[in-house]
Amino acid sequence: MRDGRPTGLLVAGEGTRDSFAALTGGQLEYAAWQRFYGMTQRVAERVFPTLTEPLPGRDALRERIDDADAWRMLFEEPLGVAVEENFTDDLVRGVVLTDALIGTFADAHDTSLLQNRCFLYHVIGGGTGDWDVPVGGMGALTDALAGAARAAGAEIRVRHEATRIETDGNAAEVTVRTPDGEHVVAAARVLVNASPQALAALLGDDPPPPAEGAQLKVNMLLTRLPRLRDRSVDPRRAFAGTFHIAEGYGQLADAYRDAAAGRLPTAPPSEIYCHSLTDPTILGPELAARGYQTLTLFGLHAPARLFAADNDAARAALLKATLAELDAHLAEPITDCLALDADGEPCIEARTPLDLERDLRLPGGHIFHRDLSFPYADEGTGRWGVETAHANVLLCGAGAVRGGGVSGVPGHNAAMAALGG
Ligand SMILES: Cc1cc2nc3c(=O)[nH]c(=O)nc-3n(C[C@H](O)[C@H](O)[C@H](O)COP(=O)(O)OP(=O)(O)OC[C@H]3O[C@@H](n4cnc5c(N)ncnc54)[C@H](O)[C@@H]3O)c2cc1C
Repeated sequence: MRDGRPTGLLVAGEGTRDSFAALTGGQLEYAAWQRFYGMTQRVAERVFPTLTEPLPGRDALRERIDDADAWRMLFEEPLGVAVEENFTDDLVRGVVLTDALIGTFADAHDTSLLQNRCFLYHVIGGGTGDWDVPVGGMGALTDALAGAARAAGAEIRVRHEATRIETDGNAAEVTVRTPDGEHVVAAARVLVNASPQALAALLGDDPPPPAEGAQLKVNMLLTRLPRLRDRSVDPRRAFAGTFHIAEGYGQLADAYRDAAAGRLPTAPPSEIYCHSLTDPTILGPELAARGYQTLTLFGLHAPARLFAADNDAARAALLKATLAELDAHLAEPITDCLALDADGEPCIEARTPLDLERDLRLPGGHIFHRDLSFPYADEGTGRWGVETAHANVLLCGAGAVRGGGVSGVPGHNAAMAALGG
């Protein structure tokens, strides 16, 4: 609370209207919120089905959306214009903008419209823009995919490193390093979900422009949820959705300016999700029974360049500053709630873009493999957005047009391209 006014906004079903009124002192901002997200919902309904069709042209997509204002706000002007046009409260503006900045280093008014593309994919998912949590965690999802593939006759080999792809456009040979030596596999077609950088290296092609991730990821295991400084909100309610920290509109602009000037943000913006509240099965039954919770934090405006000189030191400094911003909202330091592992060490891990590049081979630590593209045909995008310079080599991962997440869309589209759809 500040001067008797709350400093937080709760966007959660029935309480949303009251929370807006308490924050902004009236109903106007809530009405603007409903109008704006009504617009994105209509765009979602029209754009989402196109993601699994051949890429529409830009004009065709605009006609399909059939809303000149929506097209202008989302596809033509930097998103900051729409945010400022529609909302007046700094905190509300910031909450809207964060969906444009996930893994994306851009200012609200960036003329590249990178922030618009990131925002668009965040609000059209599933045709509703709703964000879901996979029951059982991502491991359950990949297990189910593996099961479906095996049931359809696929053979899955792990610890097989592709080291070269040779192709004449009709037939290909993939050289694979395995625990028992090197093998060459002949194939009519090769579908690749490694990054475009990795694919270019395998083919011996010129590398695509370098990618740069821009996030700090922190995973924590807690013995209990922390108590909030604002006693009027139940932590179970506050952490059930997205908990935004230092993500006011002005704070986001300041953090971008800091990072663009080569400094770690003074007040690092981040958001937190407590997946175990939504799906307790991601914890073992014993930990769940003891009331443990997972907390995962996604920090914005932390581009890889800030870690180049000394990754360990920059990681430690950014983690400290980020947790301090979180602690400002808590009635007890978050570190007091951390579980301890078998060696007595706190269960917290932080990953910079450079860590993700090393551990997961994300180019430059970019969580989407490369900057997102608008979901329409552009120069060189091909019919499905999965095509490469080689007719029988297709991208089926995040680097495809309409990729960049765990949607499965690039895999579908690569399959359609392979089937000649
Ligand atoms: C911290 C973080 C948070 C995220 N949050 C979300 C989210 O909330 N929602 C969402 O939708 N997306 C999210 N993403 C993005 C999402 O995880 C990725 O877009 C998705 O994993 C991409 O899947 P993919 O199969 O295309 O590529 P990857 O998952 O990157 O898989 C490519 C695989 O290819 C392997 N590989 C590379 N080269 C070779 C080779 N030569 N031989 C053999 N194997 C090779 C790599 O090791 C890797 O395992 C997040 C990513 C990160 C890092």
